[in-house]
Amino acid sequence: MATEQKKEEQFHFNADIQQLMGLIINTFYSNKEIFLRELISNASDALDKIRYKSITDPDSAGLNVEPNFKIKIVPDKNNNTLTIQDTGIGMTRDEMINNLGTIAKSGTKAFMEALSSGADISMIGQFGVGFYSAYLVADKVVVISKAVGEQQYRWESQAGGTFFVYDDVENPVQLTRGSIIILHMKQDNLEFLEEKRIKDLVKKHSEFIGFPIELQIEKTTEKEVSDDEDENKEKKAEEGEVLRREGTRLKRRRRRCKEVSTEFEQVNKNKPLWMKKPEDITKEEYANFYKQLTNDWEEHLTVKQFSVEGGLEFKAVLFIPKRAPFDLFETKKKKNNIKLYVRRVFIMDDCEELIPEYLGFVKGVVDSEDLPLNISRRILVTQQDLESHQEEHHQEMHRNDHRNQ
Ligand code: ADP
Repeated sequence: MATEQKKEEQFHFNADIQQLMGLIINTFYSNKEIFLRELISNASDALDKIRYKSITDPDSAGLNVEPNFKIKIVPDKNNNTLTIQDTGIGMTRDEMINNLGTIAKSGTKAFMEALSSGADISMIGQFGVGFYSAYLVADKVVVISKAVGEQQYRWESQAGGTFFVYDDVENPVQLTRGSIIILHMKQDNLEFLEEKRIKDLVKKHSEFIGFPIELQIEKTTEKEVSDDEDENKEKKAEEGEVLRREGTRLKRRRRRCKEVSTEFEQVNKNKPLWMKKPEDITKEEYANFYKQLTNDWEEHLTVKQFSVEGGLEFKAVLFIPKRAPFDLFETKKKKNNIKLYVRRVFIMDDCEELIPEYLGFVKGVVDSEDLPLNISRRILVTQQDLESHQEEHHQEMHRNDHRNQ
């Protein structure tokens, strides 16, 4: 399949993932637009990771070759492709193979079970398999990725159970850092190459993404161009050559010409919701923010926004979902769903200390004004400390119980 100079290897999708892809491709489903939200959300996660690294370990973040953190969307109507590019953390070859096909997560099966009991495909992101939603609109997906200090690799699949991974050093397009997802759109889904459709979708689903999302748009300008011939004549005339016969005026013929150029336009311009005053936020804005934050397809049940000032300064928005998450009782998994930001920069989303484990279903954002940006898990009380603290507390209670007996 590959040309001689490219090193390629074929892989088989994990059986569950293959089944999931089959469902995505073959199920009649009209709300296909959610693929863009999922891919932008992956790009944003990859950017969060590199931004965190750039603060904690700047030398390994490749800032010298790529200082920007952004997402670009490029529709190409000539080739029927839609490209989503990020300057995020990128993937190594192994990560590509593991994350995009060979290792199924618990959510893969759980999502299929949910579907068969009537759930909606748009819930896909909640189950951690959002990438495969690309096959709602594309019949072939190419992922080109470069992690810092690694070479560039290319992943390619037309579904059907297999994917290919190539060395991509010979590609004239060499990334500085991050990933490009190229969707070869199905004939029925070319609407997603339209500027207006993409803008509306970003506004609807990805408005609060914390990195600039830039859409490549076409600009048509009308220009007046004079005929080359006349220009030459004029030039010569300026040079003093007698080009005019007596009585004949040099006329400059002008033509109108359409010129098409491309440029990038930022399509998400909103500041983070939690920076606004609660009284200025509509219910719909809260619902949109909640859906983007959590990938939930339904609105939240209730929300609380508050800020604390004084010794400690932070802002928080906390949501209670309408339904319990599918992995509510998998306690070994992520401890909570609160994202910690420090002065608008995402720091981590598994910070155990923010909320007790039994409230793990509460989702939201805490943005601190005081914590240092390069805060590490070590600076916060670690889980072990917390557990040993609890243990001490237990022993203390035990001793008291004995004393009281
Ligand atoms: P989730 O993002 O919920 O983990 P996905 O199926 O959407 O699940 O993506 C699977 C994995 O592939 C991600 O966890 C991530 O490791 C990797 N991945 C996907 N898109 C990107 C990207 N743009 N940059 C870097 N890694 C990515």
